[in-house]
Amino acid sequence: METSMLALHGLGVSRGYAIGRAVVIGAAALEVSHYRIDEEEVEAECARLAAAIRAASDELAQLADHLPPDVPRELGAILQVHSMILADEMISLEPLEIIRSRHYNAEWALTAQGQALAEQFAQMDDEYMRERGGDVRQVIERILHALAEADGRPRGLKGSAIDAHGDPLIVVAHDISPADMLKLRGARFAAFTTDLGGATSHTAIVARSMGVPAVVALGAARTLLRDGDMVIVDGEAGVLLVNPPPRVVAEYRARQADYARERATLAMLRDVPAITLDGVVVSMLANIELPDEAQAAVDAGAEGIGLFRSEFLFMGRDDLPGEDEQYEAYASVVRTMAGRPVTIRTLDIGADKTLDGEATVATNPALGLRAIRYCLAHPELFATQLRAILRASAHGPVRILIPMVAHLREARASHAAIAAARQELDARGQPYGANVLVGAMVEIPAVAIAIEPFVEVFDFLSIGTNDLIQYTLAIDRADPDVASLYDALHPAVLRLVANTINAGARAGKPVSVCGEMAGDTELTRLLLGLGLTQFSMHPQQLLDVKREILQAHSNALRTKVAAVLNRASEMDLSLLNQ
Ligand code: PEP
Ligand code: MG
Repeated sequence: METSMLALHGLGVSRGYAIGRAVVIGAAALEVSHYRIDEEEVEAECARLAAAIRAASDELAQLADHLPPDVPRELGAILQVHSMILADEMISLEPLEIIRSRHYNAEWALTAQGQALAEQFAQMDDEYMRERGGDVRQVIERILHALAEADGRPRGLKGSAIDAHGDPLIVVAHDISPADMLKLRGARFAAFTTDLGGATSHTAIVARSMGVPAVVALGAARTLLRDGDMVIVDGEAGVLLVNPPPRVVAEYRARQADYARERATLAMLRDVPAITLDGVVVSMLANIELPDEAQAAVDAGAEGIGLFRSEFLFMGRDDLPGEDEQYEAYASVVRTMAGRPVTIRTLDIGADKTLDGEATVATNPALGLRAIRYCLAHPELFATQLRAILRASAHGPVRILIPMVAHLREARASHAAIAAARQELDARGQPYGANVLVGAMVEIPAVAIAIEPFVEVFDFLSIGTNDLIQYTLAIDRADPDVASLYDALHPAVLRLVANTINAGARAGKPVSVCGEMAGDTELTRLLLGLGLTQFSMHPQQLLDVKREILQAHSNALRTKVAAVLNRASEMDLSLLNQ
């Protein structure tokens, strides 16, 4: 008899199919395992919790000792409060008592105590004390992390991507932060699924860059699955199949083989220039997150790197990368690209990408101290990065890209910081390229609307459609509840893209799109019709998009798009196929 199959629907954010066994990761801190332990296990369980409390305490002390001079003063005070809470009996002794008296496992005992404390704090009259309830929760989460880390989960999950039966392993998580995604990269899992997330969340972007299928926004998959369940991830349809019967597995094996054949055929386009039927030459550039992805860009025939998201060098670690370390990373990309231009975006931290140890969470991180705002508020950090990028430009063509520019004064301050970095290198006698172009990301609607002065002060522009859509439509790109409203075809979005491309063309300045729209084959004809001639996307998407370009007639598309751009309704893509 066939087992009953469960089909869960989400958003397919990275293409392909995977068949394997689920590795269920409990990433949400308070979603912990609950089990009773035997009498003879009590002391070992107490020792496990005590060790995690010590690890959390060491981690706090480390953070406090290595606070950069430019962080807000409150941060030191918060760390002190957390250390005091950790040392208090309510955390350091009570949960051990719960293990002894009730035989709960360590995580359960800790969260049970956390629940009791949360209720006590919530009832306090004093507002200051009520707010300390949040600190207690954070301290408990820190200990839970330490417990998970000691078990090797969810961070630092390592090892082979194949289980004991030889089946590929597939990660099933509630949510994965972009930093944890990087850590999971090394383990080479066959696919990823998450309950949360949107198509342009950075978690999805990293999954795409790994070239493995991924489905996000699955709702409650994490709680419905068990470790070791047989699953199929269909990244095309955005479906997760649990316990599929043999005939479904056979069907998917056939689809996998077809997909592999399709990829092999596409590979033949690698060295074919991307030219439309009417002779418009298109630049095909690659987006990368880490230096070792540059080789994949070369292998896919990329003509350069259009976006190196440098912040991934800064994430998932306790310290900041120094100038030399950054220089090595950037220079290695420049060397791999062997004369092709490399566009390095300065640190875009904030929103869904955070630095480890960053204790304060802004009220609304997507609208907060993100990207260039963060860099201008941390001038030393910015200067270090700029020097490292400039030094890498001694090895080949490098372009600097500034993210999230909204004000002209940010443009001027960026130029001033770059000039100062050049001066510092001159003083040191260190070489850098003579012609490092400086460009801006157009990802805030204000800039796309009032674009002219930005075209003037920058050498090139790159449209970050992921954020441009997020900020134009007021839709959090990582929130599955509003994913259906996140719409690249909204007329306001398209007019902003058109305005930017046209302004660049008038001024003779190059404009690319480096948001996820550029890698979506459904939108290639639309972007050509808007006059785009530079596309930057994940290496895995390059050849699919090139195939579309080779079959398109640019001028005809421009006429069609111009005719419908000012309509009030959403762009109807079928009009472009007639
Ligand atoms: C964008 O916003 O479109 C972009 C390319 O940058 P990121 O996705 O890293 O925000
Ligand atoms: Mg962006």
